[in-house]
Amino acid sequence: MKRLVSGIKPTGDLTLGNYIGAIKQFVNMQNELIDTEFFIFIADLHAITTPQERLVLRKNIKSIAALYIACGLDPEKVNIFIQSEISEHAELNYIMESTLYIGEMERMIQYKEKKESQTEGIRTSLLTYPALMAADILLYDANFVPIGEDQKQHLELTRTAANRFNFLYGDTFTIPEGIIPKTGARIMGLQNPEQKMSKSADKSAKDYILLIDDLKVVANKIKSAVTDSDNLVKFDKENKPGISNLLTIFSALTNISIKDLEEKYKDSNYGTFKSDLANVVVDELSPIQNKYNEIINSKELDDILDKGRDRAKLIARRKLDKVYHKVGLGRKK
Ligand code: ATP
Ligand code: MG
Repeated sequence: MKRLVSGIKPTGDLTLGNYIGAIKQFVNMQNELIDTEFFIFIADLHAITTPQERLVLRKNIKSIAALYIACGLDPEKVNIFIQSEISEHAELNYIMESTLYIGEMERMIQYKEKKESQTEGIRTSLLTYPALMAADILLYDANFVPIGEDQKQHLELTRTAANRFNFLYGDTFTIPEGIIPKTGARIMGLQNPEQKMSKSADKSAKDYILLIDDLKVVANKIKSAVTDSDNLVKFDKENKPGISNLLTIFSALTNISIKDLEEKYKDSNYGTFKSDLANVVVDELSPIQNKYNEIINSKELDDILDKGRDRAKLIARRKLDKVYHKVGLGRKK
């Protein structure tokens, strides 16, 4: 049986970018990769690489868990758990910090970007984030890691860490492979289509769509998305980033190719196109929100998280014992 690992940080309410770039992919894969065990977690340790309000963090953790289910992850097929409840993630993180080099961390684009946008002290963990990510993946000997474009560089570093550790101490870790979705790998902001839609960036609410946004608000956000003035529905990322982003969203949610959409809307203006897209997004989110409301405060959700934790813990502990042994830590057993 192969394994797949991925997670999302509870740094804010989930956006349509997280849905298209991550959760929807997980859901598709759970149905396609039948000989693969899934480990999908809520990356709360990663969240505190930047300041978080404790009660908000708590709320976000639960909210992501509920959204995983509401979006269609099947707890019968997928182990859903909270990262901090498996202490082995933090323990293997330290081993990864002792495997990777500072220069390798400093080269990460996401670190450079996030560092720029911060006014307070920059936490050490923001720099060493890729070590924890490597731990998350290698702990479970994941074969596959579904990632957005923005995580490509981090995954490469995970592979470096695994190869280096295996070279130093003997074969220990599986080298993971990234799976990047073909369409919708990177959803951009509705107001700033040059920048990616993000749940934590300090932007106007019109820039992003939250999965739990009021549906009327969702439709309005789409209708007021920034576009150009030539009123031609055509994919051209360079010159028409706004409409290209909307085409990407449309295509990702309907599985209609961008080419077919261009053809369909070749004689339409942006108003018609946006109005149709608004309906598509609302139809997608409506059942998700119903299920979310049903499960968010339920015992069922806690039971799912307990079950996921127990299964993850079992594998993680075994792996970590093996790692400590290989490195020569502690006493011989
Ligand atoms: P943060 O701003 O805190 O980094 P985020 O919205 O980027 O939040 P992450 O927790 O970093 O979310 O990422 C969760 C998953 O969602 C990752 O797989 C990431 O690639 C994907 N993802 C995030 N933003 C987008 C986006 N705009 N388009 C596509 N995928 C995205
Ligand atoms: Mg991110």
